Amino acid sequence: MTHLTILYRGPLASCDYDCAYCPFAKRRDTPEQLRADRAALRRFTEWAAAQDHDVSVLFTPWGEGLVRSWYREAMVELSHRANVRRVAIQTNLSSRTTWLDRANPAKLALWVTYHPTQVTYDRFLAKVTGLPVRHSVGVVGDPAHLEDARRLRRDLPADTYLWINAEEGRSYTDEEAAGWQEIDPLFRYSRFPHLSAGQACRTGDTVISVDGEGTVRRCHFIPTVLGNLYDGTFRARLGPKACPKLECDCHIGYVHLEPTGLYDVFAGGILERIPAR
Ligand code: SF4
Ligand code: SF4
Repeated sequence: MTHLTILYRGPLASCDYDCAYCPFAKRRDTPEQLRADRAALRRFTEWAAAQDHDVSVLFTPWGEGLVRSWYREAMVELSHRANVRRVAIQTNLSSRTTWLDRANPAKLALWVTYHPTQVTYDRFLAKVTGLPVRHSVGVVGDPAHLEDARRLRRDLPADTYLWINAEEGRSYTDEEAAGWQEIDPLFRYSRFPHLSAGQACRTGDTVISVDGEGTVRRCHFIPTVLGNLYDGTFRARLGPKACPKLECDCHIGYVHLEPTGLYDVFAGGILERIPAR
């Protein structure tokens, strides 16, 4: 093995934002849960840094990770490791960003989501345009956010990719979709779920999902356990496998689905969702 991509999701399930549709909104973790999350992340970081092959890591916490010092420290640390090709995280960007000055900008990247009900437009724009690291910015395709998304597209630098995620459970008329597509030329990939059953997907081969206990699954959406990260049992089960699920509707999954061709579209920025130019 020369390279493994890892989606890490520890026990952290709290968020400082209060988005109406989200089960993690304003949820609080107990001190014990936070301690467990911190210890789990420490263990994972040490494991990742100690491998004799390259790794790329995307942190996909249920809630918001960067308001916790241990996610910031883990990212800084991993960004300086020789065997780490990329370390990225999904974030609402609510926390301060000065810590990024300590990171290696060649390796650390952010997947930023704008939540128009939670932060003022000007505050968000100022923060995101001042970032010293590579990033994508995105908005959920809720019609109530359309004007904010248009404004953001106008105000962001032309080379900052603004993605639009189809809202869960919403179907878009062609006219509605065209409006979102104008903002995000790649919106068509998100508009409909990808029929994935029986199709080749890199997860379970060169991409894995790991939880706080080191339980390895091929992706966040298939519960079958491949083994454990820390005892190495997962390695024997790696290999090309077709997707067993009817469809895949989440970017962090279908970006690895081979027929989508998205490794070419996002070459060089697969984990942080930055298309190749
Ligand atoms: S920022 Fe994300 S995790 Fe937090 S409440 Fe909103 S949708 Fe949920
Ligand atoms: S296509 Fe999606 S659901 Fe299927 S294995 Fe790949 S990531 Fe998992």
